[in-house]
Amino acid sequence: MKDDTKTPPVRTHQGDFHWDGVEVLKYKQEGSAPFKDVTRQVLFGDAAFPAQLRYFAVAPGGWTTLERHEHVHAVMVIRGAGRCIIGDKSYDLKLHDLVNVPPLTWHQFHAAPEKPLGFLCMVPTERDRPQLPMQEDLVKLGQILET
Ligand code: MN
Repeated sequence: MKDDTKTPPVRTHQGDFHWDGVEVLKYKQEGSAPFKDVTRQVLFGDAAFPAQLRYFAVAPGGWTTLERHEHVHAVMVIRGAGRCIIGDKSYDLKLHDLVNVPPLTWHQFHAAPEKPLGFLCMVPTERDRPQLPMQEDLVKLGQILET
């Protein structure tokens, strides 16, 4: 865990969803899971606090990994528009919508074709590894996306 004791009280927004002292990271290790055009920034990750707040930017037409895990996500859209799959349903997303991802529920975020999708995502600091779908899960979930 990185030492956050040196995090200043205020980190200024530089514009365009970049903040002083906040690095733009790879969403995941390349090749570790399927995804397209996603970056990750850890806004709050203090070891003294049991949660992290991250900002994810999905470029137009991009998407996050379809996955599930025991830990939950609390999400707020703060840029652009798109769609998400939560469980067995697909939902349109617009600015300031809130998304709850319950435990062990398939989820995926898609940016709109012409707009990015940027969202805050709160997670517990201690969390289990994401599970990826098997072929049979993909068949079921594929039907959701087509409808
Ligand atoms: Mn997840």
